[in-house]
Amino acid sequence: MSGSRADIVLVGGGHAHVAVLADWAQLGVPARRATLLTPHPVLRYSGMLPGWIAGEHSRDAGTVDLRALARAAGVELVLDRCVAIDPQTRSVLTLENGVVRFEHASIDVGGVGRSAKALGDDSRLIDIRPIHRFVAELEQGDRASSRIAVIGGGAGGVELAFALRNREGHRSPPPLVLIAGEQGLLPGFSSAVRRKVRVELGRQGIRLLEVDGWLERGVLMAGEEEIAADQIVAALGSMAPDWPRAGGLAVDEGGFITVDPFQRSTSHPHIFAAGDCARRVDRKVPHSGLHAVHTGPVLAANLRAALLGGIPRRSYWPRPVSLYLLSTGQGEAIASYGSLAAQGRWVSRLKAWIDKRWIASYAKLSEGA
Ligand SMILES: Cc1cc2nc3c(=O)[nH]c(=O)nc-3n(C[C@H](O)[C@H](O)[C@H](O)COP(=O)(O)OP(=O)(O)OC[C@H]3O[C@@H](n4cnc5c(N)ncnc54)[C@H](O)[C@@H]3O)c2cc1C
Repeated sequence: MSGSRADIVLVGGGHAHVAVLADWAQLGVPARRATLLTPHPVLRYSGMLPGWIAGEHSRDAGTVDLRALARAAGVELVLDRCVAIDPQTRSVLTLENGVVRFEHASIDVGGVGRSAKALGDDSRLIDIRPIHRFVAELEQGDRASSRIAVIGGGAGGVELAFALRNREGHRSPPPLVLIAGEQGLLPGFSSAVRRKVRVELGRQGIRLLEVDGWLERGVLMAGEEEIAADQIVAALGSMAPDWPRAGGLAVDEGGFITVDPFQRSTSHPHIFAAGDCARRVDRKVPHSGLHAVHTGPVLAANLRAALLGGIPRRSYWPRPVSLYLLSTGQGEAIASYGSLAAQGRWVSRLKAWIDKRWIASYAKLSEGA
């Protein structure tokens, strides 16, 4: 593998790149040699992770089979991770398989966990990123005795608190504290959604603390209080990987790859980036699975144009309000749409329908590949 060459290398099998693979499976790869470089043969769809924890569906229901999709698309799959990029020589260095040279590259590697940096080091700490390691660590953990603290009051932290409270296999619910931080519960969501979530947390006996949490010499502190916990789950949002900045790609102050409206690197237009590792410079596109998914078809069109010698022209314009569906772990979900909020079993059914339809669209493309 050392010294291999591709017209296009997709770095990371993220939510946007599966749409690119789907486009290539349907319309053909617009290049002679295409490579997908990613460490795992499946993409784990984060939207279905809380449902797996709460026993609402099987472990593998929320995954996209990257191996089958790459085969259907006629793309070489390299199961490895990128550790460095050199935009000048047009090459990426992998951990175990040497260098891949490219004409064009597209990066969709998501973010990296920031728990140890933000909270301190502790053997009880489980970061929700990378998601594959989180799943493995949850599976290894002792389910029965755990007192759990979830740190992070965003949508991920809230959904995980509900899911872990209702974890499949628990005889009785574990004592659970959600430490939301000084920004409080669900910043950026409407007061109606926050109200519903607060009521539901209270109903399920989940204690909510709206103070910062941190680790100090083996003790978990939340404001002034010491919190007893066997497992500390950190849902703190993500940091940028360090290798794009180190390689000389233009990045923002957080290290995220800055891209133009067409997902091209602002410093090296033969390199594209999408999803949580990228930052649009022309408009605010929050980092979320929803936006990574919607960017996918736009990225696919722009890569096709660039690879065929044309000019990328498609741009993703997020809607002014987005629909978020937060599972409560007990067969219900809470919907957030701008200032509107709703809760019920029908919301959970809507969420399951949307999620499963997304997964099924890729499974269908891979069939028989
Ligand atoms: C528990 C949880 C629940 C969430 N729920 C929601 C939700 O309901 N709705 C929502 O919109 N968002 C949700 N999110 C956020 C969402 O998961 C992310 O915003 C989304 O995954 C970003 O997609 P991405 O394509 O940028 O990256 P990812 O989905 O992280 O994919 C990146 C891919 O790149 C691979 N990769 C990583 N590093 C490298 C490397 N160095 N070289 C090669 N490949 C690499 C990874 O293995 C992975 O396949 C949730 C997150 C978590 C953790």
